[in-house]
Amino acid sequence: MKTAVIGFPRIGKERELKFTLEKYFKGECSQADIYAEADRQKEYGHSKQNEAGIDFISSNDFSFYDGVLDTAVLFNVIPKRYEELGLSDIDTYFAMARGYQKGDGNVKALAMKKWFNTNYHYIVPEIEDDTEVRFVGTKPLAEYDYALSKGIKTKTAIVGPFTFLKLLKYTGTKSVEDYIDIFTDEYIKLIAALDEKNVEWLQLDEPWLVKDIDEKEKTEFVKIYKKLLSNKKSVKVLIQTYFGDVRDVYDEIAGLDFDGIGLDFVEGKKTLSLVQKNGFPNNKILFAGLVNGKNIWRNNYAKTLEVLESLKSFGVNDIVLTTSCSLLHVPYTLESETDLSSDYTKHFAFAQEKLKELKELADLFETDNYKETEIYKQNIKLFENRKDSVNKQVQDRVKAIKEEDYVRLPEFNEREKIQKELLKLPVFPTTTIGSFPQTQDVRRNRQKYRKGEISREEYIDFNKKKIAECIALQEEIGLDVLVHGEFERNDMVEYFGEHLDGYVFTKKAWVQSYGTRCVKPPVIWGDVSRKEAITVNWSKYANSCTDKPVKGMLTGPVTILNWSFPREDISLEESTLQIALAIRDEVLDLEANGIGIIQIDEAALREKLPLRKSDWYSQYLDWAIPSFRLVTSGVKPETQIHTHMCYSEFTDIIPAIDAMDADVITFEASRSDLQILDSLKQHNFKTEVGPGVYDIHSPRVPSVEEIVNALTKMREKVSDQKLWVNPDCGLKTRGDKETKESLINLVEATRQLRGEKIS
Ligand code: GLN
Ligand code: ZN
Repeated sequence: MKTAVIGFPRIGKERELKFTLEKYFKGECSQADIYAEADRQKEYGHSKQNEAGIDFISSNDFSFYDGVLDTAVLFNVIPKRYEELGLSDIDTYFAMARGYQKGDGNVKALAMKKWFNTNYHYIVPEIEDDTEVRFVGTKPLAEYDYALSKGIKTKTAIVGPFTFLKLLKYTGTKSVEDYIDIFTDEYIKLIAALDEKNVEWLQLDEPWLVKDIDEKEKTEFVKIYKKLLSNKKSVKVLIQTYFGDVRDVYDEIAGLDFDGIGLDFVEGKKTLSLVQKNGFPNNKILFAGLVNGKNIWRNNYAKTLEVLESLKSFGVNDIVLTTSCSLLHVPYTLESETDLSSDYTKHFAFAQEKLKELKELADLFETDNYKETEIYKQNIKLFENRKDSVNKQVQDRVKAIKEEDYVRLPEFNEREKIQKELLKLPVFPTTTIGSFPQTQDVRRNRQKYRKGEISREEYIDFNKKKIAECIALQEEIGLDVLVHGEFERNDMVEYFGEHLDGYVFTKKAWVQSYGTRCVKPPVIWGDVSRKEAITVNWSKYANSCTDKPVKGMLTGPVTILNWSFPREDISLEESTLQIALAIRDEVLDLEANGIGIIQIDEAALREKLPLRKSDWYSQYLDWAIPSFRLVTSGVKPETQIHTHMCYSEFTDIIPAIDAMDADVITFEASRSDLQILDSLKQHNFKTEVGPGVYDIHSPRVPSVEEIVNALTKMREKVSDQKLWVNPDCGLKTRGDKETKESLINLVEATRQLRGEKIS
């Protein structure tokens, strides 16, 4: 049996590409330097796969920034405002990705969006009515040649036309239908160019097909591929799907003239039964995605081989074993994790280790009595032996959760009255989202402490000084609900992970999030519990510095889970409930220590929302929302619970957000033309809301007038009694000066609104 890989990481094992690009952006190295780095990264990936014995290795999976943007440029989908900058090709590309400063003008970057259900973000290409779509690029061809020059014959991987058309943003009057023929023709030209080079395989990535596909989309998909496939000559076409199953279009895919069909058996819950029920065309190769490209655990050989046996018994003869999606979503290699004991690492497989798994599995499948082999037996043992991750107490606590533990009493309206009475906040209360600027001194203090250069006392004293200053600043500005500033945190998930039992941390397990940005998600190793009070001392101290209310500041269970590598031996739901119980203890501790307002951030709530709408509630929201309620249900009616979500992309799940039953929610709104407010009104949203009145993602200081305008619009949709005033996210990436000026304007705008008119 042969093996394939859909795509390989490219940022560099030591993040070399990131650092080289960042130098280039600062003008510290040349174009030649970044191209040389690109070649090193391509060669690294290809040679690792080749050494591991992988048969189908992708090229064109490399990218300087993002593969969707690469595809846009390949077909000349470049908005005029970037072309007009008159830059070199590569700098035009970076201008689209990152924006461009020109004189005192500023051409903003294209938007960025989450890549399906991953934490990778792609660049959203824009097409204008007069964009001349043409196959103009050479990247796929050049990458093929480069690999070949190193002796490796690759398959060319590229985003497929259907998915690409769906990802495009249409800025004019045209839409998908207007471009179907145009793009199909240009993809046909690409195929002809590959033909000319004798490229053997073309992999067209079509992850859009795992979403709910309606009749109209089905027709579009079939139309594109009928034409495209009737124009291919010698190059074989593999349609590659991932992140789920293709239940709506299985028959259509099977009926088209593809040479290979790539299906995901890991996230695709129905993939196996689809093949069983509908059969698999016997003149095609099935690329069976059985090695998880998204998580870091060892593959369970017994289960994988069982699926392969089933496929065989369904009459599928020609199988290539592959990853469930691109390996872009996992770190490079365990070789870098020199501090982790093998008790842990033997359970993990990063990208390079997954290559070995693919090969071992393919070989085992062709070995008679493979169950007798040492490799197989060793693998089986891994899954029998995970007692060290068990904490009986935690498990019992989860089992003992009762229905009423998910319900906070008294209900919202009554609490709202009690809290208004007690807190006596003015109308339009002003607050911030939590963090204040993480300036150099803050980071240096943390680093010094980590390196053992200063004592714990010195570290704490410094942060206390920062907290006191931060409180004084907020009092001076005149904010109503204060925060401590989060100076002790590097990251809102890692910080909590470090204080929870059951977590494991890596040294270099970086995963690309977007462009040159990487994240290093902690690993949920076992049952999670709280080791000790986490934030209580900081909040208590902040509270002692002022008579005004100070918000306690926590990260919610769903966000902690979504930004970690989750376990595979228990469900996401169970893991989340464990985390929820730990955070619940922290909430109750804060309350017992006199903190009357507690914010529990669920910045990443939307992250794992299933790709199919039909699964939203049953597969996710039905446990994610109750998990949040479990955190808060134990507090007194007087205690005000806030939550915060980044992005206001929850228009379509507003009832679920309301069902979190928080007292106040703050969210980003300044960039989304306040559309969400209509939906809030329409759904009779009960929770009080603080739609961000200005965008913290840029260093600009919003004027008083601008904030008054934003608030005036908000008041049309949200009743005065429910409206809060705040920036749209934490201030940690901002500087001190602009932060102060912005908040002064925010308070002044609020005062004008209250009719106080203090100039
Ligand atoms: N409380 C966090 C902060 O202010 C929230 C961060 C976030 O939403 N990503 O930094
Ligand atoms: Zn945010």
